[in-house]
Amino acid sequence: MSFSFSFDIQSKEGRARAGTFRTPHGDLPTPLFAPVGTQATVKSVTPAQLEELQATLVLANTYHLYLRPGDELIAQLGGLHEFMHWQRPILTDSGGFQVFSLADSRKIDQDGVTFKSHIDGSTHRITPEKSISIQENLGADIIMAFDECSPPYDLANNEAALERTHAWAVRCLQAKTRSDQALFGIIQGGIFPELRKRSAEYLNSMDFPGYAIGGLSVGETKAETLSILELVDEYLPKHKPRYLMGVGSPVDLVTGVQRGVDIFDCVLPTRLARHHVAITRAGRINIANARYACDAAPIDDTCHCYACQNFSRAYIRHLVLAKEMLGSTLLTIHNLTTLVTLMSDIRLAILQGCFEQFAADFFEHWECAS
Ligand SMILES: [Zn+2]
Repeated sequence: MSFSFSFDIQSKEGRARAGTFRTPHGDLPTPLFAPVGTQATVKSVTPAQLEELQATLVLANTYHLYLRPGDELIAQLGGLHEFMHWQRPILTDSGGFQVFSLADSRKIDQDGVTFKSHIDGSTHRITPEKSISIQENLGADIIMAFDECSPPYDLANNEAALERTHAWAVRCLQAKTRSDQALFGIIQGGIFPELRKRSAEYLNSMDFPGYAIGGLSVGETKAETLSILELVDEYLPKHKPRYLMGVGSPVDLVTGVQRGVDIFDCVLPTRLARHHVAITRAGRINIANARYACDAAPIDDTCHCYACQNFSRAYIRHLVLAKEMLGSTLLTIHNLTTLVTLMSDIRLAILQGCFEQFAADFFEHWECAS
């Protein structure tokens, strides 16, 4: 199946953009936040619940699905959309980040990476061609070039990794056979402006349909992240979507959009939910805290989610203490709704030309913005 990907920008304000990215499984209004479904499931919620809370794009992890249950099995069962019963767009990462952060005894060479599975210790090898082959079997709408993510402050390591990442980006483009998947290039270069500039210019010359900014939120300061975003904004094409990988606190979303980012993903809202923490305008609250034992109020009285419309803090606290699964589900629904709604509010503000005012209000009124 052939598909013509396009990104239309409806409105701009400063660097912020409100756009629409067309994919085979529907249009993605941007900016957007994508929940993470590592194992082809967003932990503790059903696809129907994700649809209800207006999630548009879900991320799944290539490394995990390649190891278990296997990309060929998923292809036999109709691909990831069919397998996980999610008919809206899906994005898969390249597996690079997990290989570098999770796998045991990984060994890198110019051709690829050999590593041991963190599940059973078995030996595997991922090359750029293999990453694309796995991602073609999985069948997501947006796929990623295989890249190497280095520790952010190590210059020599980042220089070597960048050369490999660029050479691998060329090989990923050459290996790609499906025309119904948009392959995004990934900009690396740690905290080094010269490397980031080189990476953005080089990948820009390859005319990818979108660009990811990788290797951030891995230990550098917020100020460094923001200055890198401002720098790459200058060298990336304005008419292509930009995806900031692995970043997703409310303040990260607002400051990222202010610097031209269109797509975000992060495990934060789902992971916090499993640790009993709700993201609210009044800051993060741990619902297990004794102060909520008799609290009849919802998690956040400004929230329209299913959890806040129907359940008290006291009830959710009870579920969490009794280790009932519904506790995680309700907190996940709430946290994801908070981020998805924040992004649709940001989009509306950009369309109405009042995003800078929106951002000023956000920094003034959201406790978690500090
Ligand atoms: Zn809520």
